[in-house]
Amino acid sequence: IRVRPLTCTETQRGDQQVVRSLGDGTVHVSAARHDATFGFSAVFDAGASQEAVFEGSGMRQLVELAIDGFSCTVFAFGQTGSGKTYTLMGPFAQSTTQPAAPGLLGLMQRSFACLLQQSRGRGSDLALSASYLEIYNEQVRDLLSPGPPCALPLRWSKTRGFYVENQLSVDFESLETIADLLLQGSQRRRTSAHALNRHSSRSHALLTIHILRRAQSITPAPRVPQSSTCPSKQGTLCFVDLAGSERVKETGSSGQLCVEANNINRSLLALGHCISLLAKPRGKRTHIPYRDSKLTRLLARSLGGSGITLMVACISPSSRCLSETLSTLHYASRARRVTTRP
Ligand code: ADP
Ligand code: MG
Repeated sequence: IRVRPLTCTETQRGDQQVVRSLGDGTVHVSAARHDATFGFSAVFDAGASQEAVFEGSGMRQLVELAIDGFSCTVFAFGQTGSGKTYTLMGPFAQSTTQPAAPGLLGLMQRSFACLLQQSRGRGSDLALSASYLEIYNEQVRDLLSPGPPCALPLRWSKTRGFYVENQLSVDFESLETIADLLLQGSQRRRTSAHALNRHSSRSHALLTIHILRRAQSITPAPRVPQSSTCPSKQGTLCFVDLAGSERVKETGSSGQLCVEANNINRSLLALGHCISLLAKPRGKRTHIPYRDSKLTRLLARSLGGSGITLMVACISPSSRCLSETLSTLHYASRARRVTTRP
């Protein structure tokens, strides 16, 4: 859980701070008619730095597991304006003119740095490539291919599970290249300004790093029998910036914004539904309706399959956000009970 600080607007308005971390992974919500404590693997308070979140959330281990061939996913979710994009990318994700101070870089840039550092340490064994997609109004669009974004088909196969056909995958070897791809893609994402956030993301964005670890002989002898070689491994590291849940009433949305909000809410509901069903004990589990939305199809493996997943739930401490905050905390508590089989 990450609790962001009160914003200037919230402070000026005189909003009360109703969420506090009590240490030991617990978070306490206290307001007029609510008094509840929730427990999680880790809770980051308003004062926590981006580095503390990277080190304390298990993100570094996730990068290492991806290099070892696992499918790893981190996703940020929470109400619009709760700090999802900030946590993943830092404060200036939408700006080219003002690069973020190194201390404010988010989980993504920190993971890239960690990955490239490990990659250099291993010489040429690792081949890295990236793809970047958004789901906007239930359409999957490529954020890296040039030209106006066009919808790509989402397919299913027995060997690959759900996958996006014809998505562009770009090779990279340096931190500058991947940071550039992230910036280019983020700028193509659909965002709109509304009452809760000036740069509200109107789409779910999925950036996936594909890590191929080439097969390698353990001894450099010329005639090594097949059995003593280290097989090639293919891992993935996927970052999911979910569009925020929102109440149309509070964001003052109408027309197109309202259609977007309904699509966002519907796919988040499908995600919540899958998580609730996955959280049931294995024996009592019924069919998981991944096919209910594009988002749940693309996340099927991360949610209930063979992936390793870190979920960062972002919340605002403000009294005005109380009901959304409680719903995020309940959602996260359910998600915590889900187990996958990596
Ligand atoms: P979301 O992506 O959830 O809609 P943002 O990440 O865009 O929300 O955050 C909303 C606003 O709050 C932004 O101006 C952002 O800079 C600020 N913010 C969010 N989290 C923090 C934090 N931990 N520390 C300081 N400012 C934050
Ligand atoms: Mg955002």
